[in-house]
Amino acid sequence: MVPQDEARVSVHANALAYGAGTFEGIRAWWNAEHEELYLLEAAAHYARLERSARILGLRLPVPAAALVRLTAQLLRRNDVRSDAYVRPLLIQHGEVLTVRMHDIDTRLSIAVTPTPGDYIDPDGVRCMVSSWRRTPDSCTPNRAKVTGSYSGPSLAKTEALDHGFDEAIMLTVDGHVAEATTSNLFLRFGDEWVTPPGTDDILEGITRAQVMVLLEEATGKAAVQRRIQRSELYTCDEALLCGTAAIVVPVVEVDGRRVGDGAPGASTLLLGTTLRAIARRQDARHPEWTTPVYGE
Ligand code: PMP
Repeated sequence: MVPQDEARVSVHANALAYGAGTFEGIRAWWNAEHEELYLLEAAAHYARLERSARILGLRLPVPAAALVRLTAQLLRRNDVRSDAYVRPLLIQHGEVLTVRMHDIDTRLSIAVTPTPGDYIDPDGVRCMVSSWRRTPDSCTPNRAKVTGSYSGPSLAKTEALDHGFDEAIMLTVDGHVAEATTSNLFLRFGDEWVTPPGTDDILEGITRAQVMVLLEEATGKAAVQRRIQRSELYTCDEALLCGTAAIVVPVVEVDGRRVGDGAPGASTLLLGTTLRAIARRQDARHPEWTTPVYGE
């Protein structure tokens, strides 16, 4: 463990030019009453990091389970007593100037930073359908969280902001709804929730999996994973985005058209409150989603 400004990378690191790396974003939630910090779904995030590394053919130097313990140790060492964000990053660190995945020294870092407020407006976001599409799996694997895959979402986000929107919804190359720039999407039609399947070029979010569990618990009905067409964005009764950074936020507008009656969806707001309470263990459900950093 070293101070952040001593954690350096060479300008010749292979990953900097070629995006040959994979990363995660994990939240830690502070509960003042318990005087405890909880890591949310750390095991699931490290399991995904391991899968991403496998897809890229990179070696994770430490098993996923040990990384949860290391992360808790890092938070303790920094005496973190506030909400925080944890950024594990596995990159081709070797100073190799050629393009390839094999035989380059990899390095795993884990960095901690205080959570920088709300990433997107929790009261509701206005989205545009981006002109930038998701890369198909045949070009860049989307179920791996690859550093180099984020130029498309970055362009889409800037395009959305330039056009006066808050966020972009990206389609697959063949025009099906995939996801937002760093969050997954759910739509409600009557009493049915739908979300694009993992095979539609999305990153299969850990929050998406939690939302599916919470929706089924709340409604007694599982959300349906199916292909979604663009026009369904204009006819749904409710829409939400979910992800580690976004948590759960209502979509109130798409391409200038109101979603439902244009007000944040009631079930979306409830999901957001529930998920935050579970993350801080203020709600006793799903303790398996959280790992205490100081206690136990
Ligand atoms: N899609 C993309 C492209 C993302 O970068 C993220 C953030 N990791 C998500 C979806 C949401 O995933 P998660 O809920 O695991 O944070």
